[in-house]
Amino acid sequence: MSLSLLVYRSRSTKQLKKDRVVAMSKHFAARNRDRDITGMLVFDGDYFMQVLEGPRQKITALYELIQTDPRHEEVVTVLDEPIYRRTFDDWGLGFIVINDEGGNQIISSDLSFDNQLYKLGLDNLKQVDETRASMIIDAFAKGRWREAYTVPSDELYLDLPEQALPEFNKADSLGLYPVNFAFQPIVNPVSKLVTSAEALLRGPNNESPAEILSRYSGIDLYRFDLESKQYALQIAADMGLPCCISVNLLPMSLITIPDAVDFLLDRIERLGLSSEQIIVEITEEEAITNHDAFYGAVTRLRAAGIKVAIDDFGAGFAGLSLLAEFQPDKLKIDRKLIQGIQSNGPKQAIVRAVVECCYSLGISVTAEGVEQAAEVDWLLEAGVSKFQGFFFARPALNSFPEINW
Ligand code: C2E
Ligand code: MN
Ligand code: MN
Repeated sequence: MSLSLLVYRSRSTKQLKKDRVVAMSKHFAARNRDRDITGMLVFDGDYFMQVLEGPRQKITALYELIQTDPRHEEVVTVLDEPIYRRTFDDWGLGFIVINDEGGNQIISSDLSFDNQLYKLGLDNLKQVDETRASMIIDAFAKGRWREAYTVPSDELYLDLPEQALPEFNKADSLGLYPVNFAFQPIVNPVSKLVTSAEALLRGPNNESPAEILSRYSGIDLYRFDLESKQYALQIAADMGLPCCISVNLLPMSLITIPDAVDFLLDRIERLGLSSEQIIVEITEEEAITNHDAFYGAVTRLRAAGIKVAIDDFGAGFAGLSLLAEFQPDKLKIDRKLIQGIQSNGPKQAIVRAVVECCYSLGISVTAEGVEQAAEVDWLLEAGVSKFQGFFFARPALNSFPEINW
């Protein structure tokens, strides 16, 4: 029989008195023992954390019930994995309250659990058994997951003042262009300002960037990638875009074409744009393959006043080690890390760490691919202030979309 472990965290919907919590836990303990589920419930006066161990199907079924229980909200899955053996095997469903009513009380609804826990003390819980379940309880008891991060506002990092969103007209000469661009805004929903618009490559029949780029290879690919950006800049200039413009470039396009930066600067100037309005986005995976040449290209961009963003952070290989060596102006957290973050403990821990790290390094963070209000709420709380995603606006072909604030 395969055993599995599930840890979740949630917030009590009501203020609970100690005896009420004990009564509840006794009820849970009986319910869980019937299902061959063991574990532990911890309550800090505000939040619950529950560890459940038992047969996979039974846990899955129980968790479905738990998630719809009106006694708590903000249910976050912290851990969900197969285990070799139980941590709290003979403890039944132990229950402790920590920091209840100001004191460091530890109470329990289970006698055998009580005896063991009182002998050990909460600080020694880890020594009971160095399992992830016990370490997670320890982190919960210390409140590490609920630290508030104060991140400076993005305005501090912007050389150009952000401006309120204007009305845009569609460019009309686009039939002549070999490619199109869809524009998607990056927004600060608190100040209701647009930070920048990202230009996303589109084919004449709305083909995806991957499809278009796959038609080229070798130096032709890099030349096309670079030269297509003049149209992105052109459309942006035609629209009178007052904010920054982000373009995507393969690092190899900057590396293999010797005068790539000069080409961009020439178009920027001709179109009456400023180099400080331009952000070049590079995906982290591509950035590491050719180290020295990559730094050279980045240095040239920065020297020209163009900002550099690491795109899709967390989707590739380099991750934090890349940040140790190279600090971009902006970092965009990949949407795989963002999706469903409001109920995913590991994603929350990773994104908090990235936000804290970027805060220390003075890098502005954008969350990519936000699709739900709950994601935005969580991320705002964690100190992220810039967002890109379908929740605010889908990319609009050759134009600037309406923003759904
Ligand atoms: P990216 O730079 O990360 O761009 C964001 C992609 O995520 C876009 O897909 C956009 O449509 C999509 N997206 C935005 N918000 C959401 C959301 O809420 N949910 C979901 N599911 N998706 C969302 P797109 O336009 O297909 O672009 C894919 C990738 O192609 C881009 O990812 C970028 O890496 C690359 N790309 C785009 N334009 C160019 C270009 O001109 N040159 C190069 N080399 N690559 C480009
Ligand atoms: Mn991008
Ligand atoms: Mn991206």
